[in-house]
Amino acid sequence: MEIENISEDAEQFTCNTYLIDGEIMVDPGTADSVKQKIKQIEDLKTVLITHSHYDHVDNLETVLENHNPDIYCFDKEELPVESEKTIELQDGEQVELDSYKIRAFHTPGHKDDHLCLYFLDEKILFAGDLIFSEGGFGRTDLDEGDRELLIQSIKKIIENTEPEKLYSGHGETIEQNTVEWVESSLKNAEKKEPKY
Ligand SMILES: [Zn+2]
Repeated sequence: MEIENISEDAEQFTCNTYLIDGEIMVDPGTADSVKQKIKQIEDLKTVLITHSHYDHVDNLETVLENHNPDIYCFDKEELPVESEKTIELQDGEQVELDSYKIRAFHTPGHKDDHLCLYFLDEKILFAGDLIFSEGGFGRTDLDEGDRELLIQSIKKIIENTEPEKLYSGHGETIEQNTVEWVESSLKNAEKKEPKY
């Protein structure tokens, strides 16, 4: 499994856009440099959406202008563009893509349509804006934000996954002590400090 962050050198604000094995994308993002890289992908088969905030889905239009992938999300009404190949995932639903088994977890709290996507055999979690490195967690002061729901969502991840690596929507990847870091994100969220 090869995971590339194609937004790494973006100069504009965008989420992390991951490309797996050159054909599965997690969150197309928003920056122009990412648009260019999207155009250069040879065969984009699948796009997985963690949630519909602008910085995660703006480039879907560029994706559809250049490719014809299956798009997986929680609620297709929330996406900025329509495609017949959009597939909604329920909480706990499992899909198979190539050799990967991916389980979707509905994890609201940052946004209502938020999904975390867990690659079961590889023990890799794409956590969107639910969990960040260094014990961070998604902001809950925006529309649809709800700290109590976010806490429940992190607990759902702790109960149902055992990630070795965690790729977030922003910031660094967690590559060591991942389960412990997720637990510290939960503890920090539970403090309910007035940060957000
Ligand atoms: Zn977000």
